[in-house]
Amino acid sequence: MRKTTSPEATKQLASTLAPYLHAGDVIVLSGDLGAGKTQFVQGVAAALGVRDQVTSPTFNILLQYPGGRLPLYHFDLYRLEDPDELEDIGYFETIDGDGASFVEWGEKFPSALPYGYLEIAVTVDADGNRDVRAQSFGDRARQLLFVWAKDSKSRL
Ligand code: ADP
Ligand code: MG
Repeated sequence: MRKTTSPEATKQLASTLAPYLHAGDVIVLSGDLGAGKTQFVQGVAAALGVRDQVTSPTFNILLQYPGGRLPLYHFDLYRLEDPDELEDIGYFETIDGDGASFVEWGEKFPSALPYGYLEIAVTVDADGNRDVRAQSFGDRARQLLFVWAKDSKSRL
């Protein structure tokens, strides 16, 4: 677990994950509204070299940023009611595709989660700081978490 005391610190932590991302990696971001999931994706995007402003995909469900080292796909499933709609938005092809996918509220549809993924949970503590925790599912995510934790010099 890593504590961050500002949005910048959350983005900085996120930026240390970016160099290790591969095509097909899926990162599920969990945590309440306003916890800092989108801030985290902004930090990743900047470190990948995305120049576009990264905004919340709450209304669009999916926003794509092709301009960095690796395409970045940013989902927010908060407003999605029917998991069948995932097919319509190309969720399954996208997460299996040429970029790294970050899925806010991905845990809402457990049956739509891929076999392997990294889950990053952001929670707000009593002082308003954020606790960032990571848990891996599958071999690839385990490897990703290992190299990231080593780089960020903390347990995540
Ligand atoms: P989410 O995507 O989880 O709904 P956002 O990332 O959009 O949340 O918003 C997080 C909000 O919390 C932002 O307004 C940000 O400025 C604020 N914030 C305060 N402290 C932190 C922190 N340590 N890490 C991330 N965001 C923080
Ligand atoms: Mg968000």
